[in-house]
Amino acid sequence: MKLLNCQIDNERFIGLLDNNRTINLSKALKVYSTIYGSEDWSFNSIEDLLGLDNPEFCLKKVVDFIDRYNLKESLYVESFKTLSPIIRPSKIIALGRNYTEHARETGYNPPEEPIFFSKAVSAIIGPEDAIVYPEWLTRVDPEAELGLVIGKRAKNVSKEKAMEYIFGYTIINDVTARDMQTEDLKIANPWFRSKSFDTFCPIGPYLVLKGYIRDPHDLNIELRVNGATRQKDNTRNLIFKIPEIVSYITLHMTLEPGDIIATGTPSGIAPVYPGDTVEIEIENIGILRNTVIRG
Ligand code: MG
Repeated sequence: MKLLNCQIDNERFIGLLDNNRTINLSKALKVYSTIYGSEDWSFNSIEDLLGLDNPEFCLKKVVDFIDRYNLKESLYVESFKTLSPIIRPSKIIALGRNYTEHARETGYNPPEEPIFFSKAVSAIIGPEDAIVYPEWLTRVDPEAELGLVIGKRAKNVSKEKAMEYIFGYTIINDVTARDMQTEDLKIANPWFRSKSFDTFCPIGPYLVLKGYIRDPHDLNIELRVNGATRQKDNTRNLIFKIPEIVSYITLHMTLEPGDIIATGTPSGIAPVYPGDTVEIEIENIGILRNTVIRG
């Protein structure tokens, strides 16, 4: 089940991908809750679904309802803007050096404990927005990453229980001002600014609910620039796997519903320039495509 956040004029709604078309799921949820007298399901973004006790179960019931009453034709929507699947999380946590070859290409050994940092929430853009390259930067790299979306509040969660806190998966481009990051590392300054320029966190287009990804540690991940492959790997090569990542982060801080975790990037990092088109494809999740423009 692939969900997306959509907008037409000032109206936002949740979309559900149905082959190559999009169903207005917000409308279906509203109709369903009106008929069946459950709570009022007036949800206009994916974030609103995080409040449901069992979102996958609820959505499955609504999808069955759409099928049973042949409502698809009345629910299809055309020509809308796709927004990031999570618009304003409380935080974005990203893993550093979480693929061995990528650690080595940046001159480091694979870490013995997860390395994590934060990206500013204000850097988030959707799949139809451009990555803005500030003129004064000297190198900007895209990074293909599997994104996790947290479904419920998580604190001191064990590895064994960690998967229960995942709501779904998406694609993240952890865009990085590489020269700035390298200079900051040399003087032991944090990575925050090089990771947090406006537009440096494209996300989407889809959020795939957890139950619809059989094994998140067996997904091909690829990054292309103007059609040429730069990064190509599989999530089985993540050094720290998802349960360990979630558990480790929650030893330090509480994860809130909607929080985003970028799990790290494979090897093959290289710069992009204004005019380039960056595509990240993750198997069974989709393709996140953004162009780069001069700031
Ligand atoms: Mg990264």
